[in-house]
This record gives sequence, C-alpha cells and structure tokens, in this order.
Amino acid sequence: MKFLLRTSLGETITIDGAKIGASGARVQFAVDLGHGHLRPGLINAHDHLYRNHYPRLGSPPYRSAYEWAKDIHSRFAPQIERAEALERGDAVLFGALKNLIGGVTCVVHHDRWDASFCNRFPLRLARVRVAHSLRLERNLTEAIAGDRLTRRLALSIHLAEGTDREAADEVREAGRKGIVNDQLIAVHAIGVDSQSIELLRTAKAAVVWCPTSNNFLFGRTTPPALFEAGIDVLLGTDSLLTGEGTLLDELRQARETGYIDDERLRHAVGTVAARRLGLQEPTLAPDSAADIVFLRRPLFEAHPRDVGLVLVRGKPRFGDVEFADVFDRSAVPVEPLQVGGIPKLVAAPLATVAAKVLELSPECTRIFQ
Ligand SMILES: [Zn+2]
Repeated sequence: MKFLLRTSLGETITIDGAKIGASGARVQFAVDLGHGHLRPGLINAHDHLYRNHYPRLGSPPYRSAYEWAKDIHSRFAPQIERAEALERGDAVLFGALKNLIGGVTCVVHHDRWDASFCNRFPLRLARVRVAHSLRLERNLTEAIAGDRLTRRLALSIHLAEGTDREAADEVREAGRKGIVNDQLIAVHAIGVDSQSIELLRTAKAAVVWCPTSNNFLFGRTTPPALFEAGIDVLLGTDSLLTGEGTLLDELRQARETGYIDDERLRHAVGTVAARRLGLQEPTLAPDSAADIVFLRRPLFEAHPRDVGLVLVRGKPRFGDVEFADVFDRSAVPVEPLQVGGIPKLVAAPLATVAAKVLELSPECTRIFQ
C-alpha cells in the first residue's frame, strides 16, 4: 500500500508499506490532512504498559519509591486487587492506547517482555535490558546480564527514585555493581547529589525524566544540576499509577521547569532517545520507518485532541474521523473514541478495552478529557 499524506502547508510524505517512500512515487491515494504539521512519532522512554489502568495510588509525599510501594500494598490492597482483575492482554493494549493518543509511536516497557509485542501490536516497543531497581528486582544479577536477545542492549533501571539518603547513594551502589556506563538508562535520578551526577556524567550514562510521576510521589523532580551537567536526557510518562497522563503532559511539565531548552526537550522524545535506545534515527526521510504523527498544534501546546493522525509501521492507529478512509484502505478495523470532547477513531479493539478500563478505574478518564 502506497499513499500520500499532504498538509495544507505543503508538507508531503509518501507511505510505502511500513516505511517512508521516495517523494514523487506513484501512490494509490492521497490524504489531505489540513492545517498542522507532520513529524516522527514520539518516543516514550519509560512506561509500564500494564499499569495504566490503575488509579493514582498513595498518600504522597514519600521519601522513596520503596516507601511508596510498601505503603500502597498495605493501605491500597483492595484498589490493587480490583485493578488486577483486568486481563493482562487488555491492560497492555490500554497502555498502548494511552501512548498513541499522546502521539507516541515507540515505547520502553519497563517490565518483562510480553508475547503480544509482535508486529501486530499497535505500538512499537524498544527492547532493552530491564531491571526493576536495586532493591525490588527479584534476581538483579540475571536482570542486569540480560538474555540472549538483550545482553548487548541498553540497561533500564529505576535509580535514585526518592529524596532520602538511600536514593542519593544508589548511583554509587550501581557504580560498584559495574552498571554505571554508557549503556545505562537511569530512570528518575531524583535524589542524586553532585557526586552521583558527576559519576553519571563521566560514565556517559543517560537519564529518563518523568516529571509528573516524580512530582506526584515526591513533590519534586530530577534536580536542575543534572541537566546542567549535559547528561543525555530522555522523557518518560511512567504509568498512570503515578503519572499524570500522556507524553504531551510530560513535555509541557518538563518545559515549565525551564531546566532544559526546547531543542533538548524535542531530542529527549526524538533523536537522543532513539540513539540511546538503539533505534533508527526518527526522521521523515525516505526509507525511515513510517512511524508518524500529524499534530494540529505545535508540539509543546498539543493535547491528545490535537493529535490528528498516528501511524505506526505505516498503519493508522489513532486519528480524526475525517481520516476514516485511511483506516479503511489500510484494512485496519476502527472503533470510535471520544478524546478531548472530539470524536476520534482508534484501531480496534482499543476503544472496547478503554470502556472496560474506565468501568474499573473511572479516574483513568482523565487522559481522554
Ligand atoms: Zn517506573
């Protein structure tokens, strides 16, 4: 299937199967997108796909994620049990939906690999080595080593997720374990002190920043000194168990801090994320992956209602109702979904899954408002 996407500003992209085709190539049909702009889909460097159907749990602020985890398991057990009633397959699809409505086409799932993450999954997944954290990983040595498929990939681990002394010491402890190097993607790094920042910087490690999750749990986020050190920064949503919403919310909250400039923030969900995660450079050039988002507003002002169309591997996954024909011609069955007060279309069965989730956790409605 070859088709052309054309904005009213004159931007054009040829979609050729799962890739971007040469401009000027013969196509089967053309789509006039209207006003807005095309860009590579966003990269979300941290999520837990099967925990997005949980309400935000806890009584923050906490001193560490360990304290939070202990607290929710003792005081919010009924809510956790209720959420666990959702089938895992539906849970990961809801996680995919949260990402798609935020313009994300590729995500890091910080948990074990799921058999459903194949080419038919509506979202691309970046494969990495995953260790939960220094304290909560069942077999840390094994997780750090990875398996046959992951041992050469980047290592993603929650690190210094807290504001106490223990959090500050975690980077040093990770250093003693030999994992602070250019393969490390440290998630959160909130409680880092100047020595830990220097350790991360000299080792050329990267950090995933999840501002809304951090602010919810701890009332603060990654310190400005870490950004000033020039460390590679990626951006993540975390799950709705602690995060506010989509990656668009993270971009806005990150920007409000003023810790990094707009260009660096764009790279955090684009080229820097791709490089650190071992993905192809996200561009709109011919032969790139057709992972594309059409935004009706500038990136830092966009909300899910402004996400006009999302293609993953050249297939439409989420978009405005006026693009029903693109779904139809791509043989992607659709379902209607109301987002930001606007009727949208989403690849089936994502709206059915959303309905189940909202019945279980009405709080998750916030991402569709
Ligand atoms: Zn996390």
